[in-house]
Amino acid sequence: MQHRHLLPQELDLLVDGDVGFGVAPLRAHVETCPECAERLDALRAVVAQLDAVPHFTPRLGFADRVMTDVQVIEPWHVALADTARRLVPQSTGMRVLAAVGAGVVATTVSGSALWLAFRADLLGWTTGVALEQGAQGTWAAIGASVRALLTAQPDSGALALGAAVLTVTALVATLAFQRLAAAARANQG
Ligand SMILES: [Zn+2]
Repeated sequence: MQHRHLLPQELDLLVDGDVGFGVAPLRAHVETCPECAERLDALRAVVAQLDAVPHFTPRLGFADRVMTDVQVIEPWHVALADTARRLVPQSTGMRVLAAVGAGVVATTVSGSALWLAFRADLLGWTTGVALEQGAQGTWAAIGASVRALLTAQPDSGALALGAAVLTVTALVATLAFQRLAAAARANQG
């Protein structure tokens, strides 16, 4: 038994036909309180009338037309996420293509970098060994490998080729992703 009249949200529970814990005392109060019973009846009448109102559908693009007049301030992380999402192609085929392309580029770039590092190390080590009798120390070896890199010695030919492949791959990847991003933007628009 309630010792006060029902609050609006308690009346809402009764109108909605809520059967949760705590509704039974509210119902009991309404049965003994004519004032609350009257308010509940009035509420039920309004809800019934609202249910009878025909459901209109706004014209196509209504929300978009409204939103063109609304200035939405986006937090930077939302804008960033949106930009990232726009870069992802729409169609499944293009997505697979982009994923495969990214995978190939990543593998090629890291593989080439590893190979280059390994070759440079090897070159430095061999020239270092060759120069061991003359000048000792790491600096001589480093100087020798730098010289080998700069001058087109036969041994550094493969190294130059590797560097060229790495550069071309990076360039092609950049261009491909720019094209992909442009295509994605065109799809969006
Ligand atoms: Zn009451």
